[in-house]
Amino acid sequence: MTLHRANDNYISKTESLKTKFASRIGDAIGWGNLVGGILFGTYMLLDPQITTFMEYPVPFGMILLGLLSLWVSKQRGSETVRPHVYLLNYMLFPLILLYFIEDAATTIWSLTFLYLLMAMALQSRRMLLYSFISSMVGLSILMMTAPKQLTVLLGIEDHIIRMILFSIAGIIGLIVLYSIKDKEKLLFHYIHKAEETAYLDPFLKIPNRFDFNLYVDHKLKSSQLLLWKLELNQFQSVYDVLGHKRTDELLLMVKQRLEAKMSGDTYLAKGEGSTFLGATSNFEADELDSNLKQILRYLVAPYDLFGHDYQLNFNIGAALSGPDGDSSDELMRHAQFALDQAKLDGINQIVFSSDKLKSSTMNQVQISEALYQANLDSEFHVVYQPQIELKTNQIVGVEALIRWTHPQMGMISPGVFIEIAEKNGFIVPLGKWILEKACWEVQMLSDSIGRPLKLAVNVSFIQIRQDGFVEEILQILKKIGFQPDRLEIELTERSLFENRPEDLAKIDALRAKGIRIAIDDFGTGYSSFGILAKVQVDKIKVPRDFIENVDSNQNSQRIVTTIASMADRFQLTCLAEGIERLEESNFLHQLICQEVQGYYYAKPAVINQVEKWLSMPREKIISTISSEAADPVLE
Ligand code: C2E
Ligand code: MG
Ligand code: MG
Repeated sequence: MTLHRANDNYISKTESLKTKFASRIGDAIGWGNLVGGILFGTYMLLDPQITTFMEYPVPFGMILLGLLSLWVSKQRGSETVRPHVYLLNYMLFPLILLYFIEDAATTIWSLTFLYLLMAMALQSRRMLLYSFISSMVGLSILMMTAPKQLTVLLGIEDHIIRMILFSIAGIIGLIVLYSIKDKEKLLFHYIHKAEETAYLDPFLKIPNRFDFNLYVDHKLKSSQLLLWKLELNQFQSVYDVLGHKRTDELLLMVKQRLEAKMSGDTYLAKGEGSTFLGATSNFEADELDSNLKQILRYLVAPYDLFGHDYQLNFNIGAALSGPDGDSSDELMRHAQFALDQAKLDGINQIVFSSDKLKSSTMNQVQISEALYQANLDSEFHVVYQPQIELKTNQIVGVEALIRWTHPQMGMISPGVFIEIAEKNGFIVPLGKWILEKACWEVQMLSDSIGRPLKLAVNVSFIQIRQDGFVEEILQILKKIGFQPDRLEIELTERSLFENRPEDLAKIDALRAKGIRIAIDDFGTGYSSFGILAKVQVDKIKVPRDFIENVDSNQNSQRIVTTIASMADRFQLTCLAEGIERLEESNFLHQLICQEVQGYYYAKPAVINQVEKWLSMPREKIISTISSEAADPVLE
């Protein structure tokens, strides 16, 4: 595991100044030796008489050492060699002094003192040690070669005292430096631990999304990236079946498979929930799709968990830096939209964030903002689509459907904006507004025709999750005087499936008050039968997907017949939606299907239009509708 965050070092400004300063000193000594060596050599050449045989190697040594230290200081990663070269430099200094200065011995001590101070300032144990050794070596050489020079200004006992004092200072210096380094180590250890907690997934031991974002932003400066987001489908049900520990084990296996199959240039991280994130650099554009497909194929092979085989499904959304953005934020957003699209397409799908997707993303952002700024009373209104009882041909109720006319963008379909309103939370105030408005208008209509009309209202799962959802509905009904048993709440399978037990309890609470519950678009979600086991409902609505051409399509016939007889078994009302043709309607007459709804009978219309229809015989409504066929919605 490598954390991107850990690559950032925590060296403070003073610390990096110190390092710079130390290497500048090395450079200065190098240059000093080089220039000194050249000057010294020239001097010797010009005045050969004063030169003895012993002196010749000195200028060469200086030049060589100078070059060596300058070369070393230019090398990257030469941290281990550099101190040794500096040591040679230090040692050479006292030797050179011997040839130039009379009182070399005194100067050696002054130099040692200077080195000692520098070593302490730079907190360098090596420098401390080396400067001391070099002084000792210089003194020893002096002692052997020119004992007289040693005692020009200082007596031998002065040297001994200095040696003792400097040794004590050196040892104290070393102890201080060791304790500083020790504390530093401890500090780094804690920083590292804190970093791990903040930037690492505790169980999978791979970076989390915070580290991933830092990595992506850093990497984007130098290379193009493919950012992909992989999601394990139906994680909640996997979790429900396997429990916490086994789900963790399973995620670990997924991680191992990902690591085994992805290219070496991919940075893998754990996203929120059951998602993994990958950032791939150095790729061939035309191989991207096949590479991801290969990973996916490997991931969907069965997982052996405690002796059982588990088959998992995934989806991948991918975005490319450049066309899809130049920051982790933008890329993540596009990868998420691509992933959403992949999920809509089915299971084990890979979707790349294309331009089309991008423009729809832009659109989504626009719509999301427009929703927040919308004026409910002036931009929104409710239309009603009659629901007809097949046996009597009577309009027994209406379904409320929301309409939005934006001042600039014009009519926006609920099929588009409801999902966005669910994402940005606007569905909560909007849903309340719809319920209140619809109850009010239908109550007025019922009063005016003198017959209680049923009202069906679509409710989003986001609304159910709100605290006080049940109380709010009951309050609205009470305020308007709308009888609870005339209200039907339409929920989609998805909303029922994704809800927690406490939310399903709210549905029970509504039923206890007499409010009816219908499952909208039955059979199009994840687990139609599963829902019936989870919660008690009153009605199922067969969607247009199955009704379309039901008179001629045998598969649709089988599906619709099965759903209708199942509804009968469960003693639920069955309503067929989206009937557009007489033939479709005729087929339904043969089944146990109590209610129908569709353009063939009546399109969604404003409440005044519904009132007119209510006073007409059904045949008249149908002929009215057919004559207005060009207009998709009667409003
Ligand atoms: P839904 O609840 O299944 O509503 C039925 C949709 O089918 C409506 O589309 C309706 O106009 C349309 N429809 C009815 N009969 C026919 C037909 O014969 N042929 C065809 N092709 N279509 C027919 P609409 O009004 O565009 O609503 C689409 C979806 O948006 C609704 O599906 C519902 O899921 C959602 N929605 C609409 N209004 C609301 C609302 O007030 N609250 C919430 N949460 N969702 C709503
Ligand atoms: Mg509906
Ligand atoms: Mg429906």
